[in-house]
Amino acid sequence: MAIVTESNIAGKNCFTEKNLEHCTIVIIGASGDLTSRKLVPALFNLYLNNGLPDAFHIVGCSRTELSSQEFKNKIQSSLKKDRDLNFSDWQSFSASLFYKSINYDDVSSFISLAEYLKSLDKKSNTPANRIFYLAIPPSIYKTVAKMIGQAGLAEEGKNGNGWSRIVVEKPFGRDLESATDLDQSLHEDFKESQIFRIDHYLAKETVQNILMFRFANSIFEPIWNRRYIDNVSITAAESVGVEHRAGYYEQAGVLRDMFQNHMMQLLALTAMDPPSLFQAKPVRDEKIRVFRAVRPFSLSSLKDFLILGQYGAGVIDGKEVIGYREESGVSPDSVIPTFAMMKIFIDNWRWQGVPFYLMSGKRLTGKMTQIVIQFKEVPHSMFRKVLGEHITANHLILGIYPDERITLTFQTKNPGTKVCLRSVTMDFFYHQNSQGQIFDAYEKVLIDCILGDQMLFWQQEGVELCWSFLTPILKECEDCSDRSKLLHLYDAGSRGPDIIGSSYRFPDK
Ligand code: NDP
Repeated sequence: MAIVTESNIAGKNCFTEKNLEHCTIVIIGASGDLTSRKLVPALFNLYLNNGLPDAFHIVGCSRTELSSQEFKNKIQSSLKKDRDLNFSDWQSFSASLFYKSINYDDVSSFISLAEYLKSLDKKSNTPANRIFYLAIPPSIYKTVAKMIGQAGLAEEGKNGNGWSRIVVEKPFGRDLESATDLDQSLHEDFKESQIFRIDHYLAKETVQNILMFRFANSIFEPIWNRRYIDNVSITAAESVGVEHRAGYYEQAGVLRDMFQNHMMQLLALTAMDPPSLFQAKPVRDEKIRVFRAVRPFSLSSLKDFLILGQYGAGVIDGKEVIGYREESGVSPDSVIPTFAMMKIFIDNWRWQGVPFYLMSGKRLTGKMTQIVIQFKEVPHSMFRKVLGEHITANHLILGIYPDERITLTFQTKNPGTKVCLRSVTMDFFYHQNSQGQIFDAYEKVLIDCILGDQMLFWQQEGVELCWSFLTPILKECEDCSDRSKLLHLYDAGSRGPDIIGSSYRFPDK
């Protein structure tokens, strides 16, 4: 077990030291699920942990007619669901909470919002820095971005504005064409430095730690390549089904929901070369190089690289659960995949010939995200006369969730008079002896938006490269006259389609 002592924590203050400038966070779509479940709780936690500027406003906007007081009441009851809300904390936080109803396609509504924002800044004598967080369905991103622009709210340093940023939630389009189209619309009024494409996975502590682990230690990088690594598995399993998001999921499926964003980012962090500096541009550029090197799938032999599945009824945590097609809002003959496993190759010097297995699905045995680096077996076994040829190869597990830990498995001698080996592990638990408050992913991305740091956000080129890789596959799967043939059904609560078995490997290609 790794021992973390105070003396070996490099730089004890691990929290943002920069002054956070005053800003107004305008949440568009504030009557929705993301706002009450993720955004406002994250902002409230930041407030409690001094993670917000000294002066700030949060303005919720959507079509629903609400007074600021009604909005506060709504947020208060949703916060109360998972915590004991301290009344005085809530009173002081909610003093900065406001609501303004708007119509998403009506410019006069946004001009009136601009006036409202100005009046708030005037009252508190604070600079007009703004973050527009699009917590609305993707179908209206373009319209809303245009309205923000037409109301003069996107221009920085003009009309009394300070800085202005727009935050876009995934999905960034539903294929290459729509992603490019969305980007062109955003760029009509916003510069690239103003656009923050969120992937909250990137802000998870254990995901960020992948780069620290790889590049702040000299012992791993020399073996992080095709010479020593046999294969890499990246898994993001969930036990939940589609829950209340069937409408969205029926349009997306697992490839758009998980692969185009989170899985490709985990792939990039595992496979990228070391950036010259830990700064947004060099880090994002290295990821782009990985995306460029991903080998396109051969559509004629798709089955050798891709397995799709959809969950049927089953048992999770001792409770019977319904199948995907029985979920409310799902078509009874839906062929939307809720599971995918793919084998990817990265065509560059470092990774040539090393398969990366990416797997994600809903209603699987448990919730677990991890990256397993499977090293090669020893080239020659001097123990073969006593132990046979096979010696279990080392592997390294980067646990992202729920096991936030790093585990290295290696062979040792089992005590005794005979030569016997045993596999043992060295474990590091991420939060062991850590100091101070732990910020959750949404809290971290919100701080970075306020700081204007884009390191943890997608670059458009990366979005497009990932869509270039996935769009032909999606087309092939969706255009096929009998799509259901590509789908393997699996029981909820299982490890996925039967074909996956414990030692499943795609055919060698
Ligand atoms: P919701 O479906 O809850 O929609 C948010 C608000 O948008 C609604 O309250 C509604 O407000 C308005 N709205 C809904 N449908 C329409 C429509 N067809 N036309 C115009 N306005 C509409 O979305 P979420 O809050 O769940 O998600 C917001 C964004 O964040 C989405 O892009 C989603 O993909 C993304 N996201 C969500 C996650 C989550 O956990 N919820 C996780 C990751 C990403 P009103 O009627 O008052 O105007």
